[in-house]
Amino acid sequence: MTDADLVETVELPLTVHGLETRGVSAWFGERKVLDRVSLVMPAGEVTALIGPSGCGKSTYLRILNRMHEMVRGAGLAGQVLLAGEDVYAPGRLPAKVRRRIGMVFQRPNPFPAMSVYDNVAAGLKLAGIKVGKAERDDLVETSLQQAGLWAEVRDRLRSPGGALSGGQQQRLCIARSLAVSPDVLLMDEPCSALDPTSTRRVEETIELLRGRLTIVIVTHNMQQAQRVSQSCAFFLASHDTPGRIVEHGSTEDLFERPRDQRTADYVAGRF
Ligand code: ADP
Ligand code: MG
Repeated sequence: MTDADLVETVELPLTVHGLETRGVSAWFGERKVLDRVSLVMPAGEVTALIGPSGCGKSTYLRILNRMHEMVRGAGLAGQVLLAGEDVYAPGRLPAKVRRRIGMVFQRPNPFPAMSVYDNVAAGLKLAGIKVGKAERDDLVETSLQQAGLWAEVRDRLRSPGGALSGGQQQRLCIARSLAVSPDVLLMDEPCSALDPTSTRRVEETIELLRGRLTIVIVTHNMQQAQRVSQSCAFFLASHDTPGRIVEHGSTEDLFERPRDQRTADYVAGRF
């Protein structure tokens, strides 16, 4: 396959699906940690979730792709809709949901001893997708392209994933998620463990992916939220109130014209 062929493949129009929650509340045992969170994460856009530690952002992400229920004592109310369909509908398998809604974590977690190629192919294997060698080669290459990593690793496909830099490892994890063509990619502070240059590379990858799938990113970096997202939700909790959305809207409005004083204080770094 030539590079020109590949660009054609990458640019094929896709159906992009959005995500929405309606009145989502969450508990750990008796303790309520999220309170009636309703949010639309538009198809093909990047939605940033911001707010202080402990306000329930990671819990919210885990609810979106049905990882929350794997946590002991976890409770849940409300609805999660992917392309208008209930992600928690009876009979819907959590593993199938996770195939459509991928997740990337703060610490890049490639299989360190496994080759770059096998790390991406592992995305297919974990999802139970069986393909022939030629198709697998194509999928690995396309995923690495989409993750903005291909040029850096095309000659190192047999090197161990653990030999890549931190930023490359994070993009490798993104490629692994992309291998199964998810509708949504959830990113939980994907750059918190990275240096500024690697952070930039990951942001460029997010920019590459925009429009191709729906992205939800948790970040503590206000500049990053402004650089990568089109809409933004500000979460807040206190010692006696569970996490809630204080304000959400276009990223520009939230940062330039916050309606709530607490949002204004938070985005200005005042707490
Ligand atoms: P954030 O990502 O915004 O920092 P989290 O979603 O991690 O917030 O946590 C929200 C609240 O839920 C916190 O008070 C945290 O201590 C609590 N929490 C998170 N995970 C668990 C768990 N597995 N068991 C019990 N409490 C938890
Ligand atoms: Mg968190």
